[in-house]
Amino acid sequence: MTALRLAIVGFGKIARDQHVSAIAATSGVTLAAIASRHASLPDLPHFATLDELLRDGPPIDAVALCTPPQGRREQAAAALSAGKHVLLEKPPGASVSELDPLIALAAQAERSLFATWHSRFAPAVEPARQWLASRRIVSVSIRWKEDVRVWHPGQSWIWQPGGLGVFDPGINALSILTRVLPQPLLVTAAELAFPANREAPIAARLFLTDSAGLPISAEFDFRQTGPQSWDIHVETDGGRLTLSGGGARLIADGSVLVDEKEAEYRGLYRRFVELAATGTSDVDLAPLRLVADAFLLGRRRIVEAFED
Ligand code: NAP
Repeated sequence: MTALRLAIVGFGKIARDQHVSAIAATSGVTLAAIASRHASLPDLPHFATLDELLRDGPPIDAVALCTPPQGRREQAAAALSAGKHVLLEKPPGASVSELDPLIALAAQAERSLFATWHSRFAPAVEPARQWLASRRIVSVSIRWKEDVRVWHPGQSWIWQPGGLGVFDPGINALSILTRVLPQPLLVTAAELAFPANREAPIAARLFLTDSAGLPISAEFDFRQTGPQSWDIHVETDGGRLTLSGGGARLIADGSVLVDEKEAEYRGLYRRFVELAATGTSDVDLAPLRLVADAFLLGRRRIVEAFED
């Protein structure tokens, strides 16, 4: 099988931190070009925009869109229309409704659209799902608190409409939750704290449930200095499960069952190679729908202005 020739579009933090090394470590995919307004890599064809890449670039089979969510819809549509498979960074879009036309376009073009949720590839997520499957879940609480200045330095897009604010990391917790719990979830209430000078929340509290009335609460905060929290606690009739480190560690009933170095993006690219081989799409909008509902239902509070 010839390797999927892939171009990265948008060469910011996540492209540098994860995509380049994950592509190099995954068989069946090779980095063939970069489209970036500012950055290039030695010995790799470089184009300022996706349009230039599609027009003048080397032959490619796929693109990984590592740009902010606002504006990715147009890029995905252009790439699918040009016959390329498309990997979308999370969140898959700036709105929920923009995904349906892309799903239809991918089907029409017989190309793969992959809405990635990198946290679902964390090592403890599948073991957690299996552990929970044989128990009755009683309650769930999530603490997802990180320092925005450390993890998103100078990213103005995150504070603009469609940038999601604290839901940019919070949606990772929701992507894990919607994978490990057996039933579909819904939002019942939300509280959103907006800095006086920003258009996206810096903190949020969410209350969710399922059709059986399972109580689920989540706290997201971008103002956490010191130790960072990416933890999900699940009480069950057979003990307590804790997923910590964003899904890297699993402690169940007092025993450490998983504690591994993360390799999320390798798993993600393996999945993309599989999908592209058959032209199949994988677009699960459940986490994005929960975030959209938090914006629909959320009580808004204005808090202190945030400066980078
Ligand atoms: P970032 O550092 O701001 O990089 C985004 C890149 O997109 C920019 O460097 C820029 O690249 C390009 N771009 C194109 N249009 C832009 C615009 N209007 N404004 C800003 N940049 C624009 O962001 P990131 O952290 O890599 O995040 C990108 C996506 O990956 C987001 O959806 C985020 O949720 C997701 N993600 C991020 C992380 C993380 O740890 N940061 C982890 C997982 C997923 P060029 O200058 O090369 O054109």
